[in-house]
Amino acid sequence: MVLDAEITRLAQDIVNAKKVVALSGAGMSVESDIAPFRGKGGLWEQYDPEEYAHISTLRHHPEKAWILLSAMQKEIVKARPNPGHLALAELEQLGCLSTIITQNVDGLHHVAGNKDIIEFHGNLQTVTCMDCGNHLPSSEISLDDRPPRCNKCNGVLKPDCVFFGEAIPVDALTRAHHESRTCDLMLVLGTSAVVYPAASMPEIAKSAGAKVVEINPSETALTRFVSDYIVLGKTGEVLPRVVEQVRNLKGV
Ligand code: NAD
Ligand code: ZN
Repeated sequence: MVLDAEITRLAQDIVNAKKVVALSGAGMSVESDIAPFRGKGGLWEQYDPEEYAHISTLRHHPEKAWILLSAMQKEIVKARPNPGHLALAELEQLGCLSTIITQNVDGLHHVAGNKDIIEFHGNLQTVTCMDCGNHLPSSEISLDDRPPRCNKCNGVLKPDCVFFGEAIPVDALTRAHHESRTCDLMLVLGTSAVVYPAASMPEIAKSAGAKVVEINPSETALTRFVSDYIVLGKTGEVLPRVVEQVRNLKGV
């Protein structure tokens, strides 16, 4: 159980900060029933993401890569924002959150209503043909075809997300660096912080003088070396309590 004093401390830090940036990860969507990569449960215990979601697997064994992609798409289609996503949208409306850098590909921050989002790893909403570049919404492909193919040239379709072994799109990387360097509080939400370069954003923020605060039920690679403190709880439970306190402190 997260203590009221921890919630108040974080709310106070948010209100006192000039610029707050959040880095979110798969843990943020666990309460929307989307399995994270690491940790217990879900299909990732069966399929190693670094193998199945590697670009060379998609190129050479697309039927194998699409086992994982179809399963993930099916979870995402059903998913709705949870109270953690909604709390972040409220925090932005209150003027207390500048930008979310998200590693998630589920689009749930958009659905929740946040406006300034850097999709560091792209998203699964659209797909592109690897042969002719045909671009179409994922809702138009059959997830039971392994792999789904282009309706123009029969090439293999690739979701518009970043695979292991691929570079981060330059715009997302440049903006994420800028936001990390210029914030004075970074919230690190539901990420195990082991996938680089996303995991370097809290390090960049910290070396530029920002405070780094995690919300996660478990300690991470950052906790002892980078974070100022961690609130050990679920984002769907902690964030709404924090936002309520932010409202109180701001008198709104
Ligand atoms: P991860 O799977 O490596 O780690 C998940 C983290 O979330 C863990 O630290 C875990 O303790 C924490 N967590 C679990 N339940 C939580 C909760 N209720 N509230 C807060 N935290 C919780 O995730 P990652 O660090 O984001 O790295 C995985 C990569 O996989 C990312 O690059 C992302 O692109 C991709 N991915 C995305 C989704 C998605 O879009 N929802 C899902 C799975 C994987
Ligand atoms: Zn094509």
